Amino acid sequence: GRLADGVTRGIEGVGQSVSAQFFDPTLRLGVTGLSRAGKTVFITSLIANLIDRGRMPQLVAAAEGRILTAFLQPQPDDTVPRFDYEAHHAALTAPDPHWPDSTRAVSQLRLSLRLRGSGLLGGMAGPRTLHLDIVDYPGEWLLDLGLMGKSYDDWAQAALARMDGRPGGEAARAALAAADGRAQLDEGTAQALAQGFTSHLVASREAGFSDCTPGRFLLPGEMAGSPVLTFAPLPPGPAPRGSLRAEFTRRYDAYKAKIVQPFFRDHFARLDRQIVLVDVLGAIHDGPRAVEDLRRTLAETLSAFRPGTNSWLGRLLGARRVDRILFAATKADHLHHSQHAKLTGIMDALVRDARSRADFAGARTDAISIAALRATVEETRAHDGRNLDVVRGRLLDGGRQAAFYPGALPQDASALLAPAREGAEAWLDEDYAIMRFAPARLSLRPGEGPPHIRLDRAAQFLIGDRL
Ligand code: GDP
Repeated sequence: GRLADGVTRGIEGVGQSVSAQFFDPTLRLGVTGLSRAGKTVFITSLIANLIDRGRMPQLVAAAEGRILTAFLQPQPDDTVPRFDYEAHHAALTAPDPHWPDSTRAVSQLRLSLRLRGSGLLGGMAGPRTLHLDIVDYPGEWLLDLGLMGKSYDDWAQAALARMDGRPGGEAARAALAAADGRAQLDEGTAQALAQGFTSHLVASREAGFSDCTPGRFLLPGEMAGSPVLTFAPLPPGPAPRGSLRAEFTRRYDAYKAKIVQPFFRDHFARLDRQIVLVDVLGAIHDGPRAVEDLRRTLAETLSAFRPGTNSWLGRLLGARRVDRILFAATKADHLHHSQHAKLTGIMDALVRDARSRADFAGARTDAISIAALRATVEETRAHDGRNLDVVRGRLLDGGRQAAFYPGALPQDASALLAPAREGAEAWLDEDYAIMRFAPARLSLRPGEGPPHIRLDRAAQFLIGDRL
C-alpha cells in the first residue's frame, strides 16, 4: 500500500507541475495607438507599477493584496522582438529622467503574476499563475486593414483624393499624375515616386492627419527600402506587362499578402484584450480638421474589432474575439483634474459613432482618460482677478518649472465634432504647444503622490476579472 501510494503521489506530483507549466492561463493584451499616443510609456509604467507594487488602489486584486509577485519571463514567441522594458524603465528612472524611445514596430513581453485566489475557497486553493502577454504595435498598422478589400486602382484613387489640402499634397499628386504608368518600369522612377509619396505621408502625419496609409510607409521597420514599400498611387490607366503601373499593382498586392496579412494573422488575431491609446489633446490642439480626421481614422481602426464588417478578417479570426476594448485619452496630466471628465467625454464621443453603428461583436468597451506617467502637479492660481486651475511641471526644454493653464475644453463634447466647427480656431490655446513636460522621476514610494492618473482603473478594466 505505502509504496503504491508513494508512487501514485509521485506521479501525480509530476503530472501537476508539468500541467501547471503548460496550462497556466495566458491573457494577451494588445496595446495600440498612433505614433506618439503613449504606448511605450503606458506599457513601461504598467509593468513597473505591477512589479514594484505601485499605488494601484483601483485594481481590486492589488488592493486586496492578492498579487503576490509579478515578474518578467522570457516570452514564448521566439521571433517577435521583445519590448525593451529595461531600457525604457532606465530612461524614466534616470537621475535626469527622459522619455523613452517610441514604438516603431511590434514587440512583446511576458509578465507573470502569482495570485492568491479571492474569497474563502480561492484563498485555500493555493497561489496560481497568470501570464500576461503584452503586445505593443503601431496603430498605423491596424489602418492597413482597409487595404485588404481594395484593389490597387481603388486604393490609388482614394489616396490621390485624400491629398487635397494636406502638406505636400499638390506636388505629390502632380508628380504622380505626370508619371507615365504605361512606360516600362524604371527602378529610379519608381523610387522617386515612392519617396515623394512617402514624404507627403510623413508630413501629413506630422501636421496631425491620422489616416496616412499604407502604415509601413510611416513605420517601415526592417522593410525600409524594399520593393514592397516602393510603390505609389497612380491614376487609373492601362497597365501592360512590365510597365510601371503593372509593377506598382504587383507590389501593392505583395504589401497586402506579405505585410498586412501576416501581421493580422500572427499578432492581431491572437489578442484577448485591447487598449487603444489616443492623443486626444494633441488633436484638439492641432485644430478641428485634425479632430475630424482622428474621428474618421478611429472609426476605421475600430473596424478591425468588428470583424463582421470585413469578410477577410472574419475568416481569419474564426470564433476568436477580443472581448474587452478600452479607449484611453492619454497625457491627462496636462489638464487639471477638474477637466478630466470633459476629456473622457470627448474620447467617448470620438468613438461613439463606431460603437453605435455595430457593437464590437459582444466586446465590452469603455472610455477613460489617463496619464501613464504623471509629469505635473496641480495648483490653483489667481490670475486677472479669477482663480485658474493650472498644472505645473518641469519643462523638457531647459528644465525650468512652469505652470500652465491650457485653456478650457468645450463643455459639450459634441460641439468639437460638429461640422459647423470646420475652420474654427484651435481650442487649446498657444500654451499647449510649448507645454512639453519632462517626465517626473518615476517614484513608487508612498506619500509622494500617485505617479499616474487612473492607470489602475485601466488595468482593472483590462485584466481585473482574470486576477
Ligand atoms: P508611442 O509612440 O505610442 O510609443 O508614444 P510614447 O509612449 O513614446 O509617448 C510619446 C510621448 O508622449 C512621450 O515621449 C511623452 O512626451 C508623451 N507622453 C506619453 N505618456 C505621457 C504621460 O502620461 N504624461 C505626459 N505628460 N506625457 C506623456
